[in-house]
Amino acid sequence: MDDLLADLRSLNQPLPRYTSYPTAAEWRHVNDVTYEEHLSRIGRGPVSLYFHVPFCETMCLYCGCSVILNRKRENEERYVQALQKEIALIGSKIGWRPINQLHFGGGTPTKLLTEDFEALFSTLSSFFTFQEGAEIAIEVDPRTVFTDGGEKLRGLKRVGFNRISFGVQDTDPEVQEAVRRRQTLEMTAKTFQWAREIDFEEGINVDLIYGLPFQTEERFRKTAEDIVALGPDRIALFSYAKIPWLKAHQKAIKEETLPSTEEKFRLYLAAREIFLEAGYVTLGMDHFAKKGDSLALGLENGTLGRNFQGYTLKPSSTLLGLGVTAIGDLTSGYFQNEKDLPTYYRALEQNRLPTHRGLILTPEDHIRRYVIHTLMCRFQLDKELFFEKFNLHFDTHFAKERVALEQHIQRNLVQESEGYLTLTPRGRLFVRNVVSTFDAYHSASTLPRFSQSV
Ligand code: SF4
Repeated sequence: MDDLLADLRSLNQPLPRYTSYPTAAEWRHVNDVTYEEHLSRIGRGPVSLYFHVPFCETMCLYCGCSVILNRKRENEERYVQALQKEIALIGSKIGWRPINQLHFGGGTPTKLLTEDFEALFSTLSSFFTFQEGAEIAIEVDPRTVFTDGGEKLRGLKRVGFNRISFGVQDTDPEVQEAVRRRQTLEMTAKTFQWAREIDFEEGINVDLIYGLPFQTEERFRKTAEDIVALGPDRIALFSYAKIPWLKAHQKAIKEETLPSTEEKFRLYLAAREIFLEAGYVTLGMDHFAKKGDSLALGLENGTLGRNFQGYTLKPSSTLLGLGVTAIGDLTSGYFQNEKDLPTYYRALEQNRLPTHRGLILTPEDHIRRYVIHTLMCRFQLDKELFFEKFNLHFDTHFAKERVALEQHIQRNLVQESEGYLTLTPRGRLFVRNVVSTFDAYHSASTLPRFSQSV
């Protein structure tokens, strides 16, 4: 434990989460004409869709998402109409496509009504069809589905959703009070039970956050045990991403109420231990899946992929992002929509896709993205496969990274043998540090833009 904490002291630094490579910090202005050019070149295969619904009723102080506070129904109605327009615009440009994965995130997508989802799925059906076995997922705020006896959850199932993710973060009332997210354990447990009865067949996920104000090891153990008692199929255990220079509301969290770096790491290890003892397996540092869950099997057989929503078994070469701030990944590049709602609406009114920024990948970006994503998803890189894919010798191509790699090997974060780079169990805890070695844009000047790695 002592040497683990020593590693923590030296390795805990601001680092990207690598949901994309190059990271969003490198993206620049990109317009709809460029996006359309790239859309015209996507293959004929299935696509993944991400819908962003930015509205929330109140602001949780730790929140790092793109959120618009809203209590007016008419704003949501207008937004749904805009999404329908965007579906139609994209659909008419790429032609009929099968969908293998669809995800609604936010914000709070469950602020929308069942009839909104019916309208959106109806528009979708004019341009897309769901593939057999498609994953249709939505983030659920238990506070928005608690008062109606499960009616809204049943509506989601009726519309077609088959996976839901419950936002919980922490079950302790004092922690909740400090972050202004009041959600009783009864509320979480009841909505979870309804969801089980309704049977979302692809499963139920729960999201937790460690590093919040007033969290102690004892309290967070209780949170982890509360969650294990519910028995979700997957658990996401995220580190509180402290970025007050980007999210000013986080400044309302008093520094002295936050756990120290070492305490924060102990919170993580305590929860992790409870999940492992309960039969979950780790996927990367921050995701856990029940043994036998499809993601756990995907880790074993090397089919695990990663996209903006986390780990997936259905990585598509085309992820289309719809809604304000939504991000798409066409493999050739990343494309993000307008961040400002009036500008987003204006583009659609002018029959333009609301593209705002992004990045077209260079050949070198593709090589490094492959290495980073492979290590994050499989914890192992096969140098021969790398050669087959890029016609490059790994050791020669990454000669400059050798010194940093040797340090990881000496620290027992990485093992190198018979043409493989493999992350050790300890290396998996510091996977962001290890993969940052292959990030060509990563330098001291970019560091303060990211949250701490642990
Ligand atoms: S954490 Fe979720 S519910 Fe809270 S403000 Fe952020 S997006 Fe909204």
